[in-house]
Amino acid sequence: MATKRRFKLKPEALNKLKIIGIVLGIVLAIFIFYRSNINDLKRLGYSEKSANKILLKFKKKEVSALGKNKTLNKAFESDDYIEKNFTSYSKIEYQNQKNIIKNINKLLEKGYSNEEISLILSRGEDKDVSEFAKRAKIRYIEEFFTVSYSKLKNYDRYVSYMNNSREDEETSVLYVNLDLDKEDYQEPKPVDEFSYTMLVNKHHRLDREFIPRDLKVIDKDYASEKGMKANATAIAQAKKMIDAAKKDDKHLIINSAYRSFKDQEEIVETYQNLYGESYVEKYVLKPGYSEHQTGLGIDFGSTDTNIFIESDEYKWMEDNCYKYGFIHRFKTKYEDITEIKNEAWHYRYVGKKIAKYIYDNDITLEEYYAKFIEK
Ligand code: ZN
Repeated sequence: MATKRRFKLKPEALNKLKIIGIVLGIVLAIFIFYRSNINDLKRLGYSEKSANKILLKFKKKEVSALGKNKTLNKAFESDDYIEKNFTSYSKIEYQNQKNIIKNINKLLEKGYSNEEISLILSRGEDKDVSEFAKRAKIRYIEEFFTVSYSKLKNYDRYVSYMNNSREDEETSVLYVNLDLDKEDYQEPKPVDEFSYTMLVNKHHRLDREFIPRDLKVIDKDYASEKGMKANATAIAQAKKMIDAAKKDDKHLIINSAYRSFKDQEEIVETYQNLYGESYVEKYVLKPGYSEHQTGLGIDFGSTDTNIFIESDEYKWMEDNCYKYGFIHRFKTKYEDITEIKNEAWHYRYVGKKIAKYIYDNDITLEEYYAKFIEK
């Protein structure tokens, strides 16, 4: 018969077990403490990776005092983190750029201040900042880059434009961004997307295949020729405008609207045969560079006179066209920017809101585009 054996530990083994228990307890307590610190930091907006690094560097107190800080988070996440740059990271405005920390380090090394670095980061994409960080320190960083639409990559052109023209910084930024420091028709920016604010000029070129959105035939009562086309919205507003003018006893008519790339080629050819190369060079836009190809450029005339600029209709248009979303596109005072002589008859549909802004501020479509549209 088997005897019942009672399980009994020897005193030494019991002590060992106690020690293991205590150690496990301590480890668990540390782990819980560690996790709760991580969670504190995560609640503040730091990632798991950053939070771990913050704790390992004994920075929790400092970081917590600063609160949520995207640049700091990115710095701790990055392998490029440098301890002595901690305060700068916390003060420099965040931008969503892959190499932001590496670039901040380089720019600090060059001697830029935190404010200057915030400005630099905001004026370009990651690759532009990386390029800029390679060059020797620029002394008057604020002169150009406080202009909200300035671009890092254009810096050298700003400087040389300003030196050559003696214009101020803001004008230099504007002109260079619009490529006015380049020769006409040289290295144009391709335009392929239709929008009411699209810019087509001697530096912004449409493709041969470009066709405007919602191209529609203009009712014959409103146009001087049958079959003329334009963008449907532009037509609707032009008709409203012509009707409103009529009530004021002004007689407007559409003389020209959409012209395809091929149409413009034919115009160039006709004028070339009539007046020669130099005339065409000066007065006729090359195919792809005419606003008429957008379906948004419309030439208006008066049914009472052939000299539109002297007509009452022109005066009426000057005061009223913006109410229908149109702007007088080429004026003498804008010639430096548009590079086209005054055309009393040529109007461009941009939509009511933008037309009013352009009218109120007395600016060109180019300026509006440079300031608010172009990225
Ligand atoms: Zn025109």
